[in-house]
Amino acid sequence: MGMPGVGKGTQAVRLEECLQVPHVSTGDILRSAVRAGSALGRRVKDCLDGGDLVPDDVMGELIGDRLGRDDARAGFVLDGFPRTRPQVDTLDRVLDRMGVPVERVILLRAEEDEIVRRLAGRRVCPGCDAVYHLETNPPISAGVCGRCGSALVQRPDDAETVVRDRLRLYREQTLPAADVYRERGLLAEIDGVGTPVEVFERIRSELSAS
Ligand code: AMP
Repeated sequence: MGMPGVGKGTQAVRLEECLQVPHVSTGDILRSAVRAGSALGRRVKDCLDGGDLVPDDVMGELIGDRLGRDDARAGFVLDGFPRTRPQVDTLDRVLDRMGVPVERVILLRAEEDEIVRRLAGRRVCPGCDAVYHLETNPPISAGVCGRCGSALVQRPDDAETVVRDRLRLYREQTLPAADVYRERGLLAEIDGVGTPVEVFERIRSELSAS
């Protein structure tokens, strides 16, 4: 969990490699549905472009389907879900059915101004969802994805006014969801400022201590 742009996706990819379990990013699933023009994609496109949260019932169905797949049996790293208090209940129900617990919840922290600065420089690949940053993680060849060769773009929801709205939603909707995990003793708050390697080391030492 963490504010938009705090580095959840970057860290989740590293955790996926380290733990050998799939990285389930609800943002990536939704963006690829929009690209594919599927019924789900058409339904959620305006929410994504405007930085709004997709309704909880749509998210509940999506996460139930995704975690029901075979590759999720041995565990998974969730990225971007749950983001609201009702989504915590949905996840509890889905995991109850699967007979697995939430083992640990990592909340990455940063100041809002740092987030706005990061998102302004973020560029993403529409072909393979790779994420770059103009200052801290530039592609080898300017404007081009080093993994698949597509032209990099700025996400419409990374525009500053939209980012400010997303941060407000985070405070109003997502922090109360994180509180539930704090009360359950599952929440680890980690400083998200630093290089991706530094932040990952903090996460790894937290996970090995628990
Ligand atoms: P992300 O890539 O995690 O920043 O997600 C991008 C966008 O997808 C968000 O701004 C929302 O519009 C939507 N989204 C992703 N996950 C969720 C969620 N758990 N609940 C509602 N909307 C979501």
